[in-house]
Amino acid sequence: MKVKVAILGCSGRMGRNLIQAAHEHQSIELVGGSVRESSSFVDFDLGELAGIGAIGIKTSTQLTELTNADVYIDFTSIETTLENVQWCNEHNKALVIGTTGFNDEQVEQIKKAGQTMPVILAPNTSVGVNLMFKLLQVTAKAIGDYTDIEIFEAHHRFKKDAPSGTAVKMGQVIADTLGRDLNKCAVYGREGITEERKQETIGFATVRAGDIVGEHTAFFADLGERLEITHKASSRMTFALGAMRAAFWLSEADAGFYDMQDVLGLKE
Ligand code: NAD
Repeated sequence: MKVKVAILGCSGRMGRNLIQAAHEHQSIELVGGSVRESSSFVDFDLGELAGIGAIGIKTSTQLTELTNADVYIDFTSIETTLENVQWCNEHNKALVIGTTGFNDEQVEQIKKAGQTMPVILAPNTSVGVNLMFKLLQVTAKAIGDYTDIEIFEAHHRFKKDAPSGTAVKMGQVIADTLGRDLNKCAVYGREGITEERKQETIGFATVRAGDIVGEHTAFFADLGERLEITHKASSRMTFALGAMRAAFWLSEADAGFYDMQDVLGLKE
C-alpha cells in the first residue's frame, strides 16, 4: 500500500522538487500541498507548480483541508514548522521536518512532541550528507583530538540562516564524538587580530553566492597533512528523494524523535 504524503510549503524551492519526487515515487501517493493564504499559487495544480504538467491535485491554504495524508513533509520556515508540529501532534500525524535554523529551545519543543508522535528532524535529507556524518564520527574518533577542525559551507544567495543546519550538525557530531560542548568550542568566522588558533575550537566559515545548491567540507588538519571530507549537492532533487525515503520509513515508525541516521540504519 502506498504512503499518503502532503507537502507543506509546496510552492517553495524545495516544495516544487518534493512534489516531483513524491509524484514519481512508486511507494508514495501525493495527496496535497500547502501554500500561504497570501500566495499567488492558491488553488493551483501541484503538477503545474513542479513543472511536470497538471496532476489534478490543488494547493490548500489550511492543514484542515489536508487531513487525508499519513505523513507530512515540511520545508517551510521556523515559525510555520513549529505550528505544523503542534497540528500534526494534535491530529496523530507523522511529520518529516526539513526546515532548518531551530535554536536549542525549539529543538527541545520538537523532541517533546516526539513523545507522542513520530517526527524526523532532518536539517539535511541527502543520503550522501548523512553518510558523511558517519564518516565524521569515525574520523573524529581517530584523529580529532590532535587535528585542527574547521567546517566550511557554501549556499545560494537566498539562504536565510548561517551557518547552515548541516554545518552545525557536522560540528555537533564531531563535538559529541570528542566530548566537547559545541556551544563553548565553536568559532563563527574570524576577523582582525584573532591570536593563535586554540586547538579545542571548531571553526565555521560561510559563503553565500549565486545558485550554489549546497557544499560542505570538514577539515582535519595537522602539520604536514590534512584530511578533507566534502559533500557537494548538485540538485535539490537529492534532498527531495531523501525526504521521500524518510517519509516512507516514518510511516511505519512508532511515536519518537528521529533523524536521518535512524532512517538509513546508521545508528550503532
Ligand atoms: P523557500 O522560501 O523557497 O520555500 C519555503 C516555502 O514555505 C515558501 O514557498 C513559503 O511561502 C512557504 N511557507 C511558509 N509559511 C507557510 C505556511 N504557513 N503555509 C504554507 N506555506 C508556507 O525556501 P526553501 O529553499 O524551499 O527552503 C525551505 C526550508 O528548508 C529552509 O529552512 C531551508 O533551509 C530548508 N532546506 C532544507 C533542506 C534539507 O535537506 N533538510 C534542503 C534545502 C532547504
